[in-house]
Amino acid sequence: MLAQLKTYYQSILHGFFPHHCLACGTDVLPQNQLLCLPCTQQLPHTHFFVGNTTAIEMQLAARVPFTHVGSAFYYDKTAAIHHLVEAVKYKGNKAAGIYLGKLLGASLSQSAKMQAITHLVPMPLHIKKQQKRGYNQALLIAEGVQQVWRKPIAYNFVLRTVNTETQTKKDRVSRWQNMQNVFSVPHPELLAHQHILLIDDVLTTGATMEACAQAIFTAQPNCQVSIATVAYAKD
Ligand SMILES: [Zn+2]
Repeated sequence: MLAQLKTYYQSILHGFFPHHCLACGTDVLPQNQLLCLPCTQQLPHTHFFVGNTTAIEMQLAARVPFTHVGSAFYYDKTAAIHHLVEAVKYKGNKAAGIYLGKLLGASLSQSAKMQAITHLVPMPLHIKKQQKRGYNQALLIAEGVQQVWRKPIAYNFVLRTVNTETQTKKDRVSRWQNMQNVFSVPHPELLAHQHILLIDDVLTTGATMEACAQAIFTAQPNCQVSIATVAYAKD
């Protein structure tokens, strides 16, 4: 009787607060999860953090002296990671950002080569964009990472001082030109002898992160910079 009552109560509660998997829409999932078990099991892991040097790592390191570059998952536009990224970026779902961060943190905590990281640095958003969205999704991801992988978050190592217009319609060269002098490092002395990990949602061309790292190396040559994103999308 008690069990029946409990089920009845839960189904009423579910009617008021529907809880669905953000990828497939099923309502069969634990209360504290955003993805159901089958969707979680099908996540497209890259294994970049536990493997050897990756193609993307070599490609980016050829342009900017990054130490490590990696993503936890492949970015497939039909897959669960895409739904979670859309939810945090365009639907105001902050919990999805933390959840993505926890998934990334789980990958990072398995990685021997990432253990030397001293600080998590969320990719900064310009203050105007942040005010419009209400938050920086990269910071939510960094907070999720921290819940799983205990590294300090550095909030003021890098600032975004120029608000660039949307990048998606520009070609690679103009995107790169557009990114020059966008970032500033207000306290270079704080970064000396540190190994910082730039954190973002999706890695595509890496142009924004290159520009950010370039600003860091110019201000403080005596530090290491690595990159970790939740997902990796090929151009
Ligand atoms: Zn699902």
